[in-house]
Amino acid sequence: MYLARMNCKDVEAYLKTSDTVLIPVGSLENHGLHMPLGTDIMIPNKIAELLNIKSGILIAPSVNYGATDALSGFPGTVSIGTEVLIALLRAVCDQLFRYGFRHFLILNGHGGNTAAIQEVGMHLYRKGAYLANLNWWLMAGEINKEWAGGHGGGEETAAIMAIDPALIKTEYIEKGEEIRNDLGDALPYGAWTNIKYKGVSVAVPREIKDITGNGWLVHSFKDDVPSRANAEWGEAMLEATADYIADFAAVFAKTPLPQREK
Ligand SMILES: [Zn+2]
Repeated sequence: MYLARMNCKDVEAYLKTSDTVLIPVGSLENHGLHMPLGTDIMIPNKIAELLNIKSGILIAPSVNYGATDALSGFPGTVSIGTEVLIALLRAVCDQLFRYGFRHFLILNGHGGNTAAIQEVGMHLYRKGAYLANLNWWLMAGEINKEWAGGHGGGEETAAIMAIDPALIKTEYIEKGEEIRNDLGDALPYGAWTNIKYKGVSVAVPREIKDITGNGWLVHSFKDDVPSRANAEWGEAMLEATADYIADFAAVFAKTPLPQREK
């Protein structure tokens, strides 16, 4: 059930049966040359589409921009930053709260959005509502360990293959990540924006374009190489994740709200 397709009477009728709403949140960002910029929004929207078939949950329009400062500088990546994402999500959720929504599900496609979503979750909690953050790629990796992965790896590649295989440019998969030790060989590159010194990881926030020529950091996820991805994996994973979320949402919707003084 899509909020954008309803009128205000439909919403009033829905609220008599449920105060739960799901908002897909993504990011427009570089994922390496083999994947499209919209990977992190296409996947949550596809899972939402499957949920729409599997459950009666209300799906609000997606937020297609996220906090992805680390990937800024690769043409096409657009980051609105954590502060703007907090303000945007809080404004959307506050409006929905006004009408009676109290159980919020964020279907998130991008790790960099997590800090903003947590903040808005606490804001809603203080108002007497709950927010559940559904990081699809982490959930899929827990549903089936074989599926676990991260930015630009097999997990995301498989998901996009299931959505539209023409969007995956396989000729770039063999080219690798073009990683360099941008802080010098004494502080070699580790994972994401970490360096590794004496075997221990230390985070040094900076732009990923300093580290890799193509924005693809799959080695951090061990065996999660895109060359092993296929559409069957993607289909099974998106279906299973949607099934899980449908089950979770049904239980979450019944959670008694945090009590607040009147
Ligand atoms: Zn992604």
